[in-house]
Amino acid sequence: MIEIEFEEPNIYDCECCSNKTVRLTRFVYKDDDAYAVYYCQYTIGHKDKVVTGVISLGEWWEESVSPERVAFPFRIWTDESNYQIGLMDKEDCIWKDIEILGNMLDREVALKHKWIKEVFQLTDHIVDEDQYIIDYLE
Ligand SMILES: [Zn+2]
Repeated sequence: MIEIEFEEPNIYDCECCSNKTVRLTRFVYKDDDAYAVYYCQYTIGHKDKVVTGVISLGEWWEESVSPERVAFPFRIWTDESNYQIGLMDKEDCIWKDIEILGNMLDREVALKHKWIKEVFQLTDHIVDEDQYIIDYLE
């Protein structure tokens, strides 16, 4: 069973405008073990309503960064009726220099990774349970 720990967001002034940028940090547990971490960010009032994020999976119980920790950058937006999830390249990820997230994968590599099902399982939980993201994209 997957459980997401919801904490208060960090809020910044957007670098490109005076709007508020919201940054979320979420720790995820599977059967009570540390399982993943994800970051998400969006800016209220931007024309493109999109949430950018990164999911880091694997060995979050270790203090040091393990080679078995892998990061998947993604975006969430909506079309008329559904959430859309797209993987992104590392170069386009705002967290690409955060080493603690692990080995960050480009889109093409990520799609073939053995954990890709778990990534999409977690994004399903995000759009189902992370109320900040649900409210923003509504
Ligand atoms: Zn802006």
